Amino acid sequence: MPLKLTKRSFAVLLASISLLSHAEQAQQPSADDNKHNKPSQAAKQQATEDKQTAAPAQLINEATKPKAAPAQAAPQPSAAEVDSQMAGKATSQAKPETDSQAATKVTDEAKLGTGSKAATKATGEAKPEVEQLSVQRLCTDIGKKLGSVSIAECEKQALVASGYFTPKGYPLAMRHYGPLPNRTPQGRIILMGGIHGDEYASVSVLFKWMNKLNRYHSGLFNWQVIPLANPDGLLQRKSKRQNANGVDLNRNFPTPDWDEKALQYWQQRTFKNVRRYPGPKAASEVETKWLLKVIEEFQPDAIISVHAPHKLIDFDGPQNPPQQLGKLQLRRLGTYPGSLGNYGGSVLDVPILTVELPFAGIMPSNAEISKMWTDLVGWLIKEIPKQKEKRLAKAAIEEPPSGGTE
Ligand SMILES: [Zn+2]
Repeated sequence: MPLKLTKRSFAVLLASISLLSHAEQAQQPSADDNKHNKPSQAAKQQATEDKQTAAPAQLINEATKPKAAPAQAAPQPSAAEVDSQMAGKATSQAKPETDSQAATKVTDEAKLGTGSKAATKATGEAKPEVEQLSVQRLCTDIGKKLGSVSIAECEKQALVASGYFTPKGYPLAMRHYGPLPNRTPQGRIILMGGIHGDEYASVSVLFKWMNKLNRYHSGLFNWQVIPLANPDGLLQRKSKRQNANGVDLNRNFPTPDWDEKALQYWQQRTFKNVRRYPGPKAASEVETKWLLKVIEEFQPDAIISVHAPHKLIDFDGPQNPPQQLGKLQLRRLGTYPGSLGNYGGSVLDVPILTVELPFAGIMPSNAEISKMWTDLVGWLIKEIPKQKEKRLAKAAIEEPPSGGTE
């Protein structure tokens, strides 16, 4: 790759030459030195673009990785090459896993029908000309995009592809932290981030919380973790809220009022704000279909969805909401046709906790990330057993004697 000689590296070169002339034994500046001295043009350019994308001034840098230029400037092997190399690894990526974790993964795949059935289905849904990318490629692109998550950090989460692919070919992926021996989990929790692709911190915080689960998962809960629900929204030059089809996925859930109200609300209340487009029909998007399938199969007792930047927690469901998570306090946002909160409350009868981080582009401090996590788990410990009891009692009452359906 061509080395650009910048002012700074030129000065270093001059200094080195002058040193050499003074001390014959002096060594040449190493290639590494050059690398450090060379400001990355591509990184700078990307930084500028990302700043323009992020609206207010605070949205500095979650998405602006001061990456070394070479990685981006270097001619890359074709995606096909990378993928054929990775294809094998992606499924059997058993990196730092214990046997029980690996076993859990297998269970996951079986549960979600990831095998040939799901693959066939996904093929039917994705356009045939779009190449299906690997989890490794997903992690590479996440690592390049997010300031707080490295490629290695994403890879170590051992995300499992679901067999569903986005319109751009990214695998919709998740990680299961299942039951451990000798302990019955208190409940089943879905934890997700990045349903809106420009809320960078909501994805990064998920990775930080996964790091905690990697170290401390004790089997207290059975977790299904989806760090990035909308890869197409995040992983493009200018990240955006919607998916590749321009649909706000958090307005695309099949709530009972969708047909009557979703498009009307969008037209009359948001004045056709493109960022709030609910889609041509309920659950029209593959990401929504996938999330619905995960919810249906996993049967969660609670769903936690992380967003930004409204700096609050919102809650749908009859249970007691947490009063605060870290510095975030409970404040109701209201519901919308097609939102996950609305769907959880009206259709699933499952509490949905919406966590709105203070900034889309700035990460909370490590201390705050930890505090939110302990508050979250504390709330789950208190509320989920009650929630489960309630649901069981309700199911017992509502069970029709004939087993008929509505
Ligand atoms: Zn959001």
